[in-house]
Amino acid sequence: MTAATKPLYIVLLGAPGAGKGTQARLLTEELGIAHVASGDLFREHLNNQTELGRLAKQYMDRGELVPDDVTIRMVMERLERPDCAKGAILDGFPRTVAQARALDEALSTRGLQVDIVPYIKVSEETLVARLSGRWICRQCQATYHTLFNPPKKPGVCDICGGELYQRSDDTEETVRRRLQVYFEQTLPLIEYYQERGLLVEIDGEQEIDAVYRDLLAAIHQVAGVGTE
Ligand code: ADP
Ligand code: AMP
Repeated sequence: MTAATKPLYIVLLGAPGAGKGTQARLLTEELGIAHVASGDLFREHLNNQTELGRLAKQYMDRGELVPDDVTIRMVMERLERPDCAKGAILDGFPRTVAQARALDEALSTRGLQVDIVPYIKVSEETLVARLSGRWICRQCQATYHTLFNPPKKPGVCDICGGELYQRSDDTEETVRRRLQVYFEQTLPLIEYYQERGLLVEIDGEQEIDAVYRDLLAAIHQVAGVGTE
């Protein structure tokens, strides 16, 4: 179908802990487009002990944003890779208006654009509860929660059997700072995308399956994909 051949760019907007990564992993399978998570890319650099990884760590440990120039360069390079030919689900990027502008410019030079921006809305209280119980697979990055989405066997990934760990920036103090940074620097993106008619609010307080259902319905409306 013609709609399915056009690359699809989805920006998942929401605070840390809103469920972006959880939903992006479900959507990437359903839609067959890449999952591009800037936080995962920085953690990959950290694990590989690259120069960028060392630089990013200084910001990530404090819950601050990594500077725009290096972040934009890293994500744009990622979007050039072959697995993004059909589009991408962007998770954690953009986080500033400068990043959103850079994304728009990069896509428009290729005759493309952001198609939809689902905003996963969750209360601050829920965000803190979700981040403090989050566990992640070292191997495949799947995400679990002690109470809301526990693995079948504690400490072991259901999908690949990898070891689960808690992120060092999911401590209460850093979480508070990350949320503050989100409110100051990322929240203006709601207006940015609203003005462009791309924002769709999704109730992120619901269970994972219900959030996923609403997301898919919103994406169908703009892109006519995912129903086959
Ligand atoms: P983000 O990528 O937005 O930071 P995650 O997808 O990592 O958020 O989710 C944060 C935590 O909340 C994880 O432990 C995840 O299992 C859990 N979670 C995600 N969505 C929901 C939901 N709808 N209800 C309850 N817990 C959720
Ligand atoms: P996340 O995995 O999305 O929670 O991101 C973890 C950390 O990586 C953030 O607290 C930032 O320090 C950094 N980071 C991730 N994405 C971005 C971005 N788009 N801009 C700046 N910093 C980012």
